[in-house]
Amino acid sequence: MADMLKRVPVREQDPKVRATNFDEVCYGYNKEEAMEEASRCLNCKNAKCIQGCPVSINIPGFIAKVKDGDIEGAYKVIGESSALPAICGRVCPQESQCECKCIRGIKGEPVSIGKLERFVADYALENDIKPQKAEKMNGHKVAVIGSGPSGLTCAGDLAKLGYDVTVFEALHELGGVLVYGIPEFRLPKEKVVKKEIEKVKELGVKFETNVVIGKSTTIDQLMEEEDFEAVFIGSGAGLPMFMGIPGETANGVFSANEYLTRSNLMKAFDDSYDTPIAAGKKVAVVGGGNVAMDAARTALRLGADVHIVYRRSEAELPARVEEVHHAKEEGVVFNLLTNPKEILVDENGWVKGMKVIKMELGEPDASGRRRPIEIPGSEYEIELDTVIMALGTTPNPLIASTTKGLETNRRKCIVAEEENGQTSKACVFAGGDAVTGAATVILAMGAGKAGAKGIHELLSQK
Ligand SMILES: Cc1cc2nc3c(=O)[nH]c(=O)nc-3n(C[C@H](O)[C@H](O)[C@H](O)COP(=O)(O)OP(=O)(O)OC[C@H]3O[C@@H](n4cnc5c(N)ncnc54)[C@H](O)[C@@H]3O)c2cc1C
Repeated sequence: MADMLKRVPVREQDPKVRATNFDEVCYGYNKEEAMEEASRCLNCKNAKCIQGCPVSINIPGFIAKVKDGDIEGAYKVIGESSALPAICGRVCPQESQCECKCIRGIKGEPVSIGKLERFVADYALENDIKPQKAEKMNGHKVAVIGSGPSGLTCAGDLAKLGYDVTVFEALHELGGVLVYGIPEFRLPKEKVVKKEIEKVKELGVKFETNVVIGKSTTIDQLMEEEDFEAVFIGSGAGLPMFMGIPGETANGVFSANEYLTRSNLMKAFDDSYDTPIAAGKKVAVVGGGNVAMDAARTALRLGADVHIVYRRSEAELPARVEEVHHAKEEGVVFNLLTNPKEILVDENGWVKGMKVIKMELGEPDASGRRRPIEIPGSEYEIELDTVIMALGTTPNPLIASTTKGLETNRRKCIVAEEENGQTSKACVFAGGDAVTGAATVILAMGAGKAGAKGIHELLSQK
């Protein structure tokens, strides 16, 4: 009899081996393991896990199907709420959403909801199970800007309702952060992201790449000249922030976004591509979120000795617990309670080191986390050849500055209703990181769903 208090363990690549390759770290469950883990679900009547999911997946419903071995049935249940389950099963912070509400977690370990979702979705991709298409088109035309999780979700939900949807994407590849930000070893592109986007295409959604809204055309033109009746903006928050310290413009200093884009989208890690990347010998990554962990683990795989520099303590690290654990296992060194003061530059303009200062934690600040305070006289220098800044991002102001009547706040985020994505401009809706600032895949998907609901409420009246 299995120990019902404990999860069925998931198989992973050995840390020493994976630190030198870009293959996926986690292997996921096989059918037997998934069915065993599913049998731990108590199928609660008042399922708290559903409340923890921003897109309200019927979690006990799909898990009950897995328990019975009906994986296609489980995929249909998930498909009612989510168009991207293979992605969410891999990158959602389940530990702070659905799984932290699981009753099993009171006495033992919560049900491994994310790994079960991933298993079901991978099964559907491998067996080419088709999503449910709209029976007929309703004659309304909608534009979606951006092919990240918010845009894909909004487009998929509208297509299922019979809308004629076109997604306009600035880059040559679809997927937003899913392709240019999150590395291959956490989220495989060919095997998972591309295939899951194919499923959105199968719903009838059309995609146009290399179209920068605000340059190639504008929202006003889409509505006035191309007959789009409504627009959803899911353009993300891709503009990196810097610290403003001396030396930050030196050669060898990257934003995490640029570093990861070179590696993920432009395949700098692959010898058959000629994209340059500074595969430094000693790299410091400044920051403590998922983006910092991804940049650090990428630099490690490119052969560097990697140090995270973070100004608070381990308890405040914003990255997912699993990512921090994996980074440590692979050999990333954590310099906690440490903050950069200056990037040291050699006579040729290249990074040669960093002056840092030790910090201690004071009273909680506005974010509720204890404020880091410098310890006077504790500065010291570390030798480096590359610095990656992973300090957060803000939305690019291009769309707001080229759309009449679109309100933004002081953080450059588009102002939109949480419930339906309505912006200050009639027939224009928005959601995801473009509205909230940098957040998570599942919150962006939730906002895409809300936007689709808002657009449907508007256009179904016409
Ligand atoms: C490195 C990294 C790791 C992350 N790890 C995780 C994680 O583990 N778990 C998690 O939940 N979240 C993670 N996140 C956050 C998550 O990826 C984002 O919150 C999410 O992708 C936001 O989705 P979105 O659709 O709002 O925007 P995006 O994914 O940013 O997509 C926006 C799209 O719009 C396009 N676009 C922008 N401007 C225009 C324009 N003018 N015209 C046309 N197209 C335009 C962009 O090219 C992009 O494709 C991570 C983020 C990064 C950067």
